[in-house]
Amino acid sequence: MLTATLFPGRYVQGAGALSRLGGELARLGTKHFFICSPHPLEHVLPPLLPGIESTGSVRAERFGRECTDVEIERLLVLAKDYGADTITAIGGGKTLDAAKAVAARSGLPVAVVPTIASTDAPCSSVCIIYTAEGVFERVDILPKNPDLVLVDTAVIAKAPPRFLASGMGDALATWFEADSCRISRGRNIAGESGSMTAHALSRLCYETVRDWGQAALTACSAGVVTPALERVVEANTLLSGLGFESGGLGAAHSIHNGLTALAGSHSYYHGEKVAFGVLASLVLTDRPLNIVDEVYALCARIGLPTTFADLGLGEPTDAELLLVAEKSCAPEESIHNEPVEISPALVLAALKAADAEGRRRKLCDGELKGRAQKTKGLADQLRGPFVCQKLYICIAVTGAYTVSGSTGQKAWQGCQPTFTDAQTLPVSASTPPAHSLGSDPYQSALVGRWEAHHDTYTYRYQNFCMCSRVGVHRGTTDSRHQESVCQRSEWPRKV
Ligand SMILES: [Zn+2]
Repeated sequence: MLTATLFPGRYVQGAGALSRLGGELARLGTKHFFICSPHPLEHVLPPLLPGIESTGSVRAERFGRECTDVEIERLLVLAKDYGADTITAIGGGKTLDAAKAVAARSGLPVAVVPTIASTDAPCSSVCIIYTAEGVFERVDILPKNPDLVLVDTAVIAKAPPRFLASGMGDALATWFEADSCRISRGRNIAGESGSMTAHALSRLCYETVRDWGQAALTACSAGVVTPALERVVEANTLLSGLGFESGGLGAAHSIHNGLTALAGSHSYYHGEKVAFGVLASLVLTDRPLNIVDEVYALCARIGLPTTFADLGLGEPTDAELLLVAEKSCAPEESIHNEPVEISPALVLAALKAADAEGRRRKLCDGELKGRAQKTKGLADQLRGPFVCQKLYICIAVTGAYTVSGSTGQKAWQGCQPTFTDAQTLPVSASTPPAHSLGSDPYQSALVGRWEAHHDTYTYRYQNFCMCSRVGVHRGTTDSRHQESVCQRSEWPRKV
């Protein structure tokens, strides 16, 4: 069996990495043709110019929204007229894809600088071509990967968190698709089998997003770079790119391609549609329920779509869904790498089941949300001194509470009770710390254990969480409460 593993020439990541761009480009040439998305053209490129122009010259052009054949040809003519010897892209996935295609058609080296971590496009040799209306048209496999991928995480951290979440949706698919290819001996982007390296990196990609995704999103919401953000940016950009390209693709990306046939999905990002493709693929490939639960919970925590409505599709008709399913099952699609029977009817069923499961979970979360609102008054009641030997307070807990986009609109993303170890603070034996019972249960949450006889109050404070449940239990030493031991029948008695 032959395996092939594809890599970019060099990958540079970190806060302030843009300061290295001039030096990196000087390795590749002296006449640099830049293709930039509108915002980077005005705000990212200008401060870099003195450094880059100290060793070369620059001509910059604005990217025209869609990565179409017409747009690639337009940029190609401009680059040739300029006499460019390198192509550099700064912007989002479509801008980078267009630059990779221009470089491939002109035989020039290409550097890509993603300003958002929303897809796995940067490191790959793949270029996705759309129509002018934004409908997926085809995938072009270019002769080589980018010569340089440079990611400044300080820039990524300032971008709307929705982009980072979308990149996690794309990264989420990587391991499931590579694993399917491993089982079915499906082909990767080079037309060969995936290597051990690709499978291991795909798994690392999934585990990184699963374990660090929420913390990274929180950091991005605050506009700061943290180790969690660095990890997830690397997963979204490098691991996801290496994983899909060398490990192979499966159903999730084919279902993404199918979903683009419905106009309602066009305002949703690649990774958001891929994430829903992952959910449908879990149904289609009969994955274990614990995995299904893990992925739905992750999507809810980081605000990825779990229903048709989340993707702007409302309640699609069977005819519309059949269109999606048939497009997903086109002969050239990677869905045929899945180690199960594939047909439009089976994909249609998986789509409907994935949406139904998403709606069921939202209903459950909605009920918890209602209980949380009732909780606020109860939390106030709990502030007094109590008579008891041990009092366990669980005002729990979590779910992503993010501020999305530039609108500042707050969105409830889901709720998943968690009970975690935390700080121990000495407090009055009779009074839990007032600040820990936040005045707004939507912005604070705590899992608490107050032991009157120990004079300690143990709690964990989590930002962007919602109180979803209040329970009080006496007489147990187990602070890792399960719902079953949080009984409302045992409320504390005030004196
Ligand atoms: Zn993708």
